Amino acid sequence: MSPFTSTIFAEITALATSTGAINLGQGFPDTDGPQSLLDDACAAIQGGANQYPPGPGVPQLREAVAEHQKRFYGLDVDPEREVLVTAGATEAIAATVLALCEAGDEVVTFDPVYDSYAASIALAGAVRRTVALRWPDFALDPDALRAAFSERTRVVLVNTPHNPAGKVFTRAELELIGSLAREHGAIVVTDEVYEHQVFDDAEHVPMAALPGMAEQTVTISSAGKTFSVTGWKVGWLHGPAELVSAARAVKQFLTFVNAGPMQPAVASALSLGDDFYTGLASDLRRKRDLLCAGLRAAGFEVSVPQGTYFVIADPTPLGHDDGVQLCRRLPELAGVVAVPVSVFYDDPEAARPLVRFAFCKRDDVLHDAVERLGRLRPA
Ligand code: PMP
Ligand code: GLN
Repeated sequence: MSPFTSTIFAEITALATSTGAINLGQGFPDTDGPQSLLDDACAAIQGGANQYPPGPGVPQLREAVAEHQKRFYGLDVDPEREVLVTAGATEAIAATVLALCEAGDEVVTFDPVYDSYAASIALAGAVRRTVALRWPDFALDPDALRAAFSERTRVVLVNTPHNPAGKVFTRAELELIGSLAREHGAIVVTDEVYEHQVFDDAEHVPMAALPGMAEQTVTISSAGKTFSVTGWKVGWLHGPAELVSAARAVKQFLTFVNAGPMQPAVASALSLGDDFYTGLASDLRRKRDLLCAGLRAAGFEVSVPQGTYFVIADPTPLGHDDGVQLCRRLPELAGVVAVPVSVFYDDPEAARPLVRFAFCKRDDVLHDAVERLGRLRPA
């Protein structure tokens, strides 16, 4: 694990803490999720839900996940056999990859890649085959995708909406990924933690909702993103019973179970009305627009994200062509921190200047940040 000793997010948050800079690096909201959710968790603690919950997760939460998938995507999920509650999406990813891959198996991933994917694949002794998505539109190159598959491909690890690119994979892109996976007998593991953070005309298409794909897809999501409680670490996966049961076998020896009192609270939150879900997306769209306009005014080029709460910007017009260097100096230059994008690529040259900013922050914090970033303009 020596290449994975410190995550970029921990490093950048430490830099924000030590310098007092505004943290637009690590993606976490600066306001907590719905009050009813917080109250329900307190009530569960006071009500005595404090001992080991069942291994697959409390029944209410598994049922709520199944209902959510039916309500939003028309998917039929059996809460008994086809859902597993996990310690965040991070554990869902690790447990699935460890369950499905033997040493030497290949996993297709898309660069820029979320850091835990590479680490989980390394833990399994599997080999990553990368398809690069490139600035500014991060479109999928079908030939590069085809070339990444081989007879050893076991898993394709998709993330839509995509962190850090802000890309929402189109139905056509997902159909191509799905058909290549089927052709090669591979399982699609799809990380959809930003499923409700989608803007404008973009539509979140779950891989499991494509014809014929439910049988070979494991879908992952997390309360951390949808309900702005990243510190709770309640996530879940669902898919065909035999795959879920394999992931459950691994999960038993990673965490055994996870936090009991949070689970009934998340179960109730999943059934919040449509206004909660549409409000989440429209608030974030406003914040996206605020940050993108501010970054442009400060002299950055911006790739406007269709989903997630991240935006990638290019500081080259401001005379900075190395994102890693810029992120190290950003607290001193502007009192803000951001994350260099090249660390999410096998080939750092594919994204050398680029930096990622998070916009899941209060409007006043975003206003302050863009004003500070205005200091980067050469005099
Ligand atoms: N996948 C992606 C794409 C993420 O951005 C994150 C966290 N920000 C996770 C997984 C991890 O989610 P959790 O905190 O629920 O483990
Ligand atoms: N997923 C969050 C991000 O992209 C961070 C989570 C973490 O720190 N591991 O910023």
